[in-house]
Amino acid sequence: MNTIVCIKQILDPEIPPAKFRLDSESKRVIPPEGIPPVTNPYDEQAVELALRLKDKHGGKITAVTVGSDAASMVKHALAMGADEGIVLADEVFEGSDSFITAYILTKAIQKIGDYELVLCGRQAADWDEGLVGSIIAENLGLPLVTLAEAVDVADGELRVKRVTLDGYQVFAVPTPAVVTVSNEVGQPRLPSGWGIIAAARKQVPAWNAGDIGVDPSQVGAGAARRKLVKLFTPLRERKCEIIQGETTAEASVKLATRLREAKVI
Ligand SMILES: Cc1cc2nc3c(=O)[nH]c(=O)nc-3n(C[C@H](O)[C@H](O)[C@H](O)COP(=O)(O)OP(=O)(O)OC[C@H]3O[C@@H](n4cnc5c(N)ncnc54)[C@H](O)[C@@H]3O)c2cc1C
Repeated sequence: MNTIVCIKQILDPEIPPAKFRLDSESKRVIPPEGIPPVTNPYDEQAVELALRLKDKHGGKITAVTVGSDAASMVKHALAMGADEGIVLADEVFEGSDSFITAYILTKAIQKIGDYELVLCGRQAADWDEGLVGSIIAENLGLPLVTLAEAVDVADGELRVKRVTLDGYQVFAVPTPAVVTVSNEVGQPRLPSGWGIIAAARKQVPAWNAGDIGVDPSQVGAGAARRKLVKLFTPLRERKCEIIQGETTAEASVKLATRLREAKVI
């Protein structure tokens, strides 16, 4: 069972609110000083799911990321137990939207070849769009199952246990297939000491647009299908009004009247 896992680097979701800053001009979140980025938690769970499959059925796991500064995410996947890692990096990728990110990943997956399963996280925990996995499946013309808790192999097919609001579905899909992974997978394993050393020694190849046959005019900000018009944090105003009265009953009536005026009740 050869698996390709797509992993995205994100800003740490645990950034304290006081350190969270936006640049409205460039419409970007400003990375806070001293808080390193992390692997998208759903993608760590995708690596975990791939490792469980490998533990049972053997095969190879390849971790792939798009982003020039994301090599440490691939190293983390290698330390967890992935076999190979590839960074997709090129300045022409800058400003890519979800469709283009999926296109870049599709081209890399086609170049890697020899796989039965592509795993993505259910969504990236920074923008929470949940688009890339589905677009990769469409690009490759492969079956897709979203929100997986578990994947196994039976009768030469994949059996994917999919999480629903109050239960599960089990889908059978032929390989190769694309599956997006949900947090119900549970805690990803911690890298072992030996895994960290082995990952540190491993070379992570970086592929650019030419390496994967990407036409530079089809990627980056110029090719984006949509434009982010505004990125802002809402302004929250708090007002406090003390309602008083001679008696509790009088104060209660005043409070109810005030709440009705404010259209709260
Ligand atoms: C090189 C580059 C430049 C960018 N520049 C900008 C910019 O200028 N402005 C801006 O607003 N945004 C930028 N982005 C972010 C981009 O718009 C998307 O947010 C991102 O590529 C993926 O979309 P998503 O957040 O909707 O992911 P989702 O669809 O929520 O992600 C689902 C899953 O897809 C996979 N996946 C998603 N992204 C990646 C990735 N990069 N590598 C590997 N797997 C991935 C993961 O498995 C993830 O769990 C850039 C992204 C890249 C890669």
